[in-house]
Amino acid sequence: MHTVRLFGTSRTYAVGKIVCLARNYSEHIRELGNEVPESAVLFIKPSSSIIGDGEQVVIPPYSKDCHHEVELALLIGKFGKNIREGEAMSHVAGYGVAIDMTLRDVQNALKQKGLPWEIAKGFDTACPLSDFVPASQVPDPHALRITLAVDGRMRQDSSTALMMRRIPAIIHEVSSVFTLEEGDVILTGTPAGVGPVTSGARLCAEIEGVGHLEVSVQ
Ligand code: ZN
Repeated sequence: MHTVRLFGTSRTYAVGKIVCLARNYSEHIRELGNEVPESAVLFIKPSSSIIGDGEQVVIPPYSKDCHHEVELALLIGKFGKNIREGEAMSHVAGYGVAIDMTLRDVQNALKQKGLPWEIAKGFDTACPLSDFVPASQVPDPHALRITLAVDGRMRQDSSTALMMRRIPAIIHEVSSVFTLEEGDVILTGTPAGVGPVTSGARLCAEIEGVGHLEVSVQ
């Protein structure tokens, strides 16, 4: 079990499920040669895949191509099912920074065979995750600079303004499939610029007004 803090409060949350969106930024869809999906492409990472700031990503031996994907993370603060868009924001307790570590070679092979992605995205250490800032301190989560640098070199530099599905729509759609409970986390997809990391790399992810997350690769 992994616990996250909500800054400026005494609250901690045990993280439950982590629901992730694929293909939510059009330039990233193009860079991987995918199609723009009609409904959200969703997958789940187990909470056992979380590591915190300063910890190490361990690339499993069955992959030779591990990619970084920086993403805005939503911390769910209360129970909800079939949440209406107009009420969705009241379910967000806070915002954080996540890196969706992805074994691209494994994922591509699974995609070709129509198989699920879990071993490419849910392995141990596949979800570096920061603590969270209270939602009330982020006036517009759809206007935040989102970046990821590897060894000091900028790889991803974009804005959450470019998300195709916005947060209320995401929460509505996700909660129509998965009941959302306190402590669940939603990863909202990655902008363009994803790429490989190898042993010894230092990843620094940042979202303006939300936080900063630094991990290295073992
Ligand atoms: Zn992702």
